[in-house]
Amino acid sequence: MPDKIVLVRFEDVVSSISRSLKRELARVFSLPVEEGTVLPLPNAYDANRHQYLSLPFLESLLSLKQGKEFILGITEADLYAPGLNFIFGEAALMAGVAVISLARLYSSFYGLPEDEDLFKERVLKEAVHELGHLFGLKHCPNPHCVMHFSNSINDTDVKAASFCEVCKRKLRLNS
Ligand SMILES: [Zn+2]
Ligand SMILES: [Zn+2]
Repeated sequence: MPDKIVLVRFEDVVSSISRSLKRELARVFSLPVEEGTVLPLPNAYDANRHQYLSLPFLESLLSLKQGKEFILGITEADLYAPGLNFIFGEAALMAGVAVISLARLYSSFYGLPEDEDLFKERVLKEAVHELGHLFGLKHCPNPHCVMHFSNSINDTDVKAASFCEVCKRKLRLNS
């Protein structure tokens, strides 16, 4: 299990994002959280879809791996994976790296006025969710658990930023 969590911004993300996330993630996982280097956007843009393939982001993050830390990448890029219209994030379980996309966490993406607190809450949920996968957790049927799968931003808003009792127990067993 990891000795720390490293937050890595891709170059399109402003630094204030990882600053607030750092504190929250340290609290949720009881681990030190550090900021890593800032990475350039990988060459993964699909001009037809106006989206980025997620795999090269995970590969870039993997290239930073040094020990048993977990690395969480953050990008503004709208990510997709083969067979899916979009993804909020993706975790490469065996590699210990994951990435989240901020693109669909803004209210303005849905034509609504921006809400800073709501946005931060969504970022935290997606970050905890992908890190939960790295800790070996699968999707949870409880819609209020952070490990519930988000098909849409509505699912993200319904779930909490924390683990249900069942996932909490699994998390303790796994770490
Ligand atoms: Zn998931
Ligand atoms: Zn759960």
